[in-house]
Formats: sequence, C-alpha cells, structure tokens
Amino acid sequence: MTQQTIRFTFDNSYRRLPDRFHARTSPTPVAAPGLIKLNAALLEELGLDLSSSTQERAVRLFAGNEIPEGADPLAMAYAGHQFGNFVPQLGDGRAILLGEVIDRTGQRRDIQLKGSGQTPFSRSGDGRAALGPVLREYILGEAMHALGIPTTRALAVVTTGEPVYRETILPGAILTRVASSHIRVGTFQYFASRGDTEAVRHLADHVIARHYPHTIGADSPYLALIEAVLEQQAALVAAWMHVGFIHGVMNTDNMAISGETIDYGPCAFMDTYDPATVYSSIDHGGRYAYGNQPGIAQWNLARFAETLLPVIDDASDAAIQQATDLIRGFFGRYEEHWTTGMRGKLGLATNEPEDVDLIHGLLDVMKTSGADFTLTFRRLCDAAADPAADGWVRDLFVDRHAFDAWAVQWRARLERDPQSPAERAEHMRRTNPAVIPRNHRVEQALNAAVEQSDCGPFETILRVLERPYEDRPELAGYTDPPQENERVLRTFCGT
Ligand code: AMP
Ligand code: MG
Repeated sequence: MTQQTIRFTFDNSYRRLPDRFHARTSPTPVAAPGLIKLNAALLEELGLDLSSSTQERAVRLFAGNEIPEGADPLAMAYAGHQFGNFVPQLGDGRAILLGEVIDRTGQRRDIQLKGSGQTPFSRSGDGRAALGPVLREYILGEAMHALGIPTTRALAVVTTGEPVYRETILPGAILTRVASSHIRVGTFQYFASRGDTEAVRHLADHVIARHYPHTIGADSPYLALIEAVLEQQAALVAAWMHVGFIHGVMNTDNMAISGETIDYGPCAFMDTYDPATVYSSIDHGGRYAYGNQPGIAQWNLARFAETLLPVIDDASDAAIQQATDLIRGFFGRYEEHWTTGMRGKLGLATNEPEDVDLIHGLLDVMKTSGADFTLTFRRLCDAAADPAADGWVRDLFVDRHAFDAWAVQWRARLERDPQSPAERAEHMRRTNPAVIPRNHRVEQALNAAVEQSDCGPFETILRVLERPYEDRPELAGYTDPPQENERVLRTFCGT
C-alpha cells in the first residue's frame, strides 16, 4: 500500500508574478526530523487532512525533507528599513514559501517553512532557526490569535536533529507559518528602490486583488490601497496597545501589507505599565518602545506610500498631496480605534468627549504607581460589577489615593452609561484578558523545551492562552506578574 501524505490544494498566485519577485529554491533536507507540535485547529481550518498520512510523512513534510505535490517553493524578494536605515536587499534568507492554499472559508493563505535552509537571500546567514525562538513564535502568534488580533499563525514545529550555532550551540527547528500573505512594506520598497515602477504596479495590483478587492472600483485605486493598508495598520497597532503588546522590531520588512502581526522576534507583553517599555536586546535607542508604536507605524506607512507615488495618477502634484494627506491622517484613524477600544476596556458603551481624559487619567496613575497593565484592567471588570471590589484594584497601585481619586470620576461617568453593572462587567471581561503570555512564563516554557527536552510547559502555556478572556482554574500561576527574581528584562530575536 502506498502511503499518502497530507494533501494540500495549492494555487500559487505569487509564483505567477514575474521572475524578479522571487527566487525558486527548495528547502534543504535535515538530518533527523522530529515532531514537536502540530496545530490541529489550524490544520482543520485549512482543510488539511492528516488522517491519511503517517506521522512520519507529515514530519518529513514540515521539515522540508519532502515537497508536497503542487508546491512550487520560492524565497520572496524584499528590502526594508531596519531601525531607520534602508537595506535594499533582504528577502527570505531562511524562509521558503511552499505555496498558497484556499482555506475552508475561501481565504487564501501562504504556507511557509521558516528555518528551512539557505536561499539566494541568505547573505552570510545559515538559513536556520533555533528551537527556542521557533516555540516563542508559536506561543506568541497563537496567543495573539486567541486575543482576537490579526496575526500570522503557526501550523507545525519540527526539530531538525541538527545544531545551530549562535552564541551557544542550540537545537535547530523549523516553523511552518501560515499568513494571509507574506507581502511586506519592504516588498514594495525592493522594487521602488530599483526604479522598477512596472513591478510596483504589478505588486500593487496583486495586493489589491488579494487583500483589498473593495478598492478596485475606486477613482484612484492606488490611493485607495494606501488608505486601506493604513486603516488595517491603525486598527492593528491600536489592538496591540490595548493588550500591552510590544512588537520589538517594527522594521518596514516586518510590517505585513495584510495588516497581520508578523515576525515574532524579540516581542513581549508589558507587565508594569510604562510607555517607555522596551524589551528587545537590539533596540538600544528605544525606537520600538511600547509608546512609540503608533508613530513608527505612521513612519512605515509613509515609506509604503512613497513607493506608490510613481504609479498614482502619473505622480501628479494632486496625487502626491492626497497621499500626504492620507499619511497625515493616520493619527486620527489610530486615535479612533484606540479610543473605541479603551472605552470598552473601561466599560463605557456610550461616547462622551471627556472620555479621553478619563482614559489618560487612569494611564497616568498606572504609570506613576507602577501598576500591572493586564491586572488593572481585568480587576476593573470586578469593580464594575461591584464597587466592593475596588480594593482589589487599588492594591495594584503604589499611590492608592491617586487610584481612589480616579475611581470617583470613573463611577460618576458610569452613572451616565446605560449598561447594568453585570452587563458592563461581562462586556469588559471580553475585552480585558485575564491572561497574556507573560515573559517569565514564556521563558520558562522555552527553557524546559530547549534545555530539558520537556515540552510539558510549552503545551500547558498554549492551553492557558487558548481562551484568554475566561477565568479558569488552569490559569493559576499564569495571570500574575513576575516576582522580582522572575523578571525578564531582555528578549532576543534569536536569529
Ligand atoms: P528578521 O530579523 O528575522 O526579520 O530578519 C531580517 C533579515 O535577515 C531577513 O532578510 C531574514 O531572512 C534574514 N535572516 C535572519 N536570520 C537569518 C538566518 N539565520 N539565515 C539567513 N538569513 C537570515
Ligand atoms: Mg523579518
């Protein structure tokens, strides 16, 4: 009997773009593939059936040792601003796009192997990934998905049986990543910086058809594209801010045109609220600090808009002015998403202009009092249900009186809001997570897997993060901020 493998129904639209968009290249087979994790829910979403496949076959496939039928593997070309400096050629140096599948809901999704060996874009890199960062991307991506934030996702993790050489010798691994596409701001920059206007137009048309078909009939489709991408990013970064997520490397090559969170390197969730928070070991100047993220998103979008200028209405002055106005309008769009979400976090169903002051009032007290971001908002849900729970919130503040003074204003505002306390608390619990991937817990899970080959804590934290808005007994030990000696101060991209 011949063994079947997982059947993908590929339809590789990116492969059909001109040759200069990509380099055809295959994964480099690995010595001894071993399965760490398959994402059953995502396999199901993609309509991929594992039942006809032996596990061994599946592992070979996710290790790049076997190419599935219909795949047409390639490395994507892209450029990017890294910490503000333009690099004209980056590209997939350690990732290979197997192809695209249409999922059960009709959505096109990229299937990419990350850590699958060298490509023509590897420069001096080995094309490989270490197990720790791969598991980190799995945990963080799935946590973001469960929080309801657009993100690339992890389909599988396999170990390679080969060492990777970083500061120390580490076990190698490959992540199978699923994205609505891997097209980045840097993909546009790659062609624009070469003066290849035809390719920019081609790419823009591909993106419009694939991600933003509603802009097709617009008077000026490329301006409409800028507006659509800007809207997605404004919503995305606001969503990050609402849960205390710090991306860590918002380079233009790490900003997906689809509006999904991509490239979980040194990202982290903030414990104590402080807009200046930075975890990334490579972000010396704090360029990508929590509070800088909206401004950086706007800067990246300006770089995106610049690439399109030559194709917008023959680069007329009017077109350039309109593009400039769109970018200037970013903060207005961002503020709207942010304020709407923050109102929800405070339990307000109605809008009053002064709500912005109320929101900032709380954040100011949280900052000076070193309050934990996630716990403050989660405990406010209890306080909304019953003022007797106020003490539970104020315990998080060094300056309890400052919190009390704010709470008086909050309660006065709640009086003017139509929801019942129970109803309000329920809504708040759906927007203020009980649990986030706390850095110290993530580190513990990665260390156990890498140092003791124990994936138990990795599996546990995945289960904990699956339903972040529900209080469950399993959350015990995962909701609290780190003790002084558990605190993680730095995160590493691990490349
Ligand atoms: P990242 O920091 O992961 O966003 O990657 C930035 C650039 O470096 C991309 O072009 C990657 O493909 C490339 N890169 C990162 N790690 C490696 C590696 N181990 N081998 C080859 N290229 C890499
Ligand atoms: Mg990247």
